[in-house]
Amino acid sequence: MDQTRNPSPSNNSSKISSSSRLLVLQSHLSTQKPTMASEKEAALAAAALPADSPTIFDKIINKEIPANVVYEDDKVLAFRDINPQAPIHILLIPKVKDGLSGVSKVPEAEERHIEILGRLLYTAKLVAKQEGLEDGFRLVINDGPSGCQSVYHLHIHLLGGRQMNWPPG
Ligand code: AMP
Repeated sequence: MDQTRNPSPSNNSSKISSSSRLLVLQSHLSTQKPTMASEKEAALAAAALPADSPTIFDKIINKEIPANVVYEDDKVLAFRDINPQAPIHILLIPKVKDGLSGVSKVPEAEERHIEILGRLLYTAKLVAKQEGLEDGFRLVINDGPSGCQSVYHLHIHLLGGRQMNWPPG
């Protein structure tokens, strides 16, 4: 029998160190980590709200709630994601929403947004450099319920600090 594919329970358990046991235990006890199902539920709930409702990002822009800001200019704000999916996970948002709930949900991206859309991408490069991501990174926009978007204020996810896989989930 191929032991690497079907290790016996006794062999397997003897190889597990106490530190890795602790890690497994921690992951089971953690109530913070959202499951894939809860992310999908959050995305569906957010999509059901009126299209241009204020979001948590308005509160961050207005400094009503704290955020770990890593970059700010007159047009763009970048801050660390509260639920990071990589060692570096930063969100870049336009400071003025101007109808940019997302890319395609009405209100949606229009020709007048070309400048800010380009600026967000350019700023992502600046922030990536600032974070030391010389070897590369990933930029993501989740759009609409099928894209698992949960906050309807356009944002780019900048993810880095680990090897990414393809295809994404
Ligand atoms: P999305 O699901 O693409 O709409 O992404 C929304 C992101 O916003 C998620 O990755 C959340 O973890 C993140 N997020 C929500 N609230 C906050 C917050 N208060 N501070 C930082 N990130 C947040």
